[in-house]
Amino acid sequence: MSGDFHIGQGSDPAPANPLVLRRSRGFLIVLSGPSGAGKNTIVGEVLGRVPDLRYSISASTRPPRPGEVDGVNYFFLSEKEFEQRVKSGDFLEWATVYGHRYGTPRKYIEKMTASGQDVILDIDIQGAMKIKKTWEDAVFVFLLPPSLSELEKRLILRGSDTEEVVRHRLSCAREELEAVFDYDYVIVNDDKEKAVSALMNIIYAERCRVKRCECREFIDDLRR
Ligand code: 5GP
Repeated sequence: MSGDFHIGQGSDPAPANPLVLRRSRGFLIVLSGPSGAGKNTIVGEVLGRVPDLRYSISASTRPPRPGEVDGVNYFFLSEKEFEQRVKSGDFLEWATVYGHRYGTPRKYIEKMTASGQDVILDIDIQGAMKIKKTWEDAVFVFLLPPSLSELEKRLILRGSDTEEVVRHRLSCAREELEAVFDYDYVIVNDDKEKAVSALMNIIYAERCRVKRCECREFIDDLRR
């Protein structure tokens, strides 16, 4: 792995969004929810439809699942590599989730938001709460499954985890639901399309917040 995360990513200019005023910087959309709620699918769809939106690829010590690609799904690191990154302050946040360590690379997020791109993070509740304390201006979205039996079905159908892991993730999910009260928005994923538009609507609404836009320049221009 190279010394820098996200090499070769994020250099192409995304199309301008005609709906909103110019913004001096982008913001973070932090998406959490129980394993199997459908975060990956929803995020994938939204990334393909919303301009000026980037995905923060996390680093993880978890072994890759079949089909997962290093640098695409995660930056897969050894424990030693991960520890080095922690010591160097490379992570905006990191946490141990289901026995493995996961971290959000800091540089990419700083670079993207500084260039006016919004960045979506799929991270667990512990990580989200760390970001809440350290990063002003992030938006927190919680994705819920329509029921716990549906969640179980999705985890089994995914077929990527052993029965024991599925059982562990399900029991964690029961506890995790309570965290929704620390988030700004909640989406129930009982229908993919509806969940995708809900998340897109949140992003577009947040982009229109007066505090994020360069309104002064615009209204001064209008008055000229
Ligand atoms: P999975 O192993 O199923 O890909 O992910 C397990 C959990 O780790 C998910 O809830 C996911 O949101 C979370 N996760 C992924 N990347 C990060 C990260 O960078 N930081 C934190 N705190 N959690 C993460």
